[in-house]
Amino acid sequence: MVYNILLERELSGTGSDVSDEIGGTDMLKGKVAVVTGGTRGIGYAIVKKYLENGAKVVLFGSRAETVEKALSSLKAENAEWEVAGDYPDLSDAGAVKAAIEKVKDKFGKIDILVNNAGISDSTKIENYAEGQFEKVMKLNVNAIFNAIQPTVAIMREQGGGCILNTSSMVSISGQPGGVAYPTSKFAVNGMTLSLARELGPSNIRVNAVAPGITKTDMVAALPDQMIQPMIAGIPLRRIGEPEDIANAFLFLASDMASYVTGEVLSVDGAMRA
Ligand code: NAD
Repeated sequence: MVYNILLERELSGTGSDVSDEIGGTDMLKGKVAVVTGGTRGIGYAIVKKYLENGAKVVLFGSRAETVEKALSSLKAENAEWEVAGDYPDLSDAGAVKAAIEKVKDKFGKIDILVNNAGISDSTKIENYAEGQFEKVMKLNVNAIFNAIQPTVAIMREQGGGCILNTSSMVSISGQPGGVAYPTSKFAVNGMTLSLARELGPSNIRVNAVAPGITKTDMVAALPDQMIQPMIAGIPLRRIGEPEDIANAFLFLASDMASYVTGEVLSVDGAMRA
């Protein structure tokens, strides 16, 4: 299987600590992380940030080619980084469980799970096709549940861990159009707050990051007449960079956030949708 090829090849590095050499801060030294939707955009920035800070990372994408491409580009930046990839169908609970368990088998643990894969939507309600609402919910909500459930079993057994979800600024005030998207992100916040309370006694922290408008393919797909008024409404007067968001994911995954759980951290230049 491509997974095995990718995993075995990519993890056959030296295992040396690289973060000092590349200017990382070692905030995640020795940690093992899984990042869904790690092939591009915000997820890719998180993967890179975690690697720079000493973590070993398995990124999940939707296809073998995009996973390969992301791994090659990361390896081109630093051949010593311990990074592997897989592409389970995130809507298939069994496939996700198997992929998560493979990570545990290879690394012995999972310290950090980042549920970042997501799709956007701007369809007016009357134009929704049959099944379109469910498609957004399936990836943005059900898939997160699918990844969290098997990971929690592993984290409980190892004595703790950290789960992070990508929410959105629209999870606070909604958005005019594409109702499935804000609905899904409200659900992400609900899952985050509830699981923080359920899993706190097992030393598992659960937080979310709510990005504002961020420079990725997802935003490139939006019409210009939707983006320009948004920039004018951002007090910091710029769209966020993927690295702005990755920095928040770094903080929340690190021991610096050891008493932070059940939080949805806005990283949006004070933009309010
Ligand atoms: P992107 O489109 O650049 O990347 C999305 C990622 O999700 C990709 O890695 C892709 O492989 C993965 N993905 C998409 N469909 C998938 C599927 N069916 N199965 C598995 N993986 C799939 O998007 P992005 O802007 O980097 O968004 C990442 C997250 O950030 C999403 O959850 C999104 O809702 C959230 N977000 C983005 C913005 C923004 O302005 N870009 C703002 C708020 C929240």
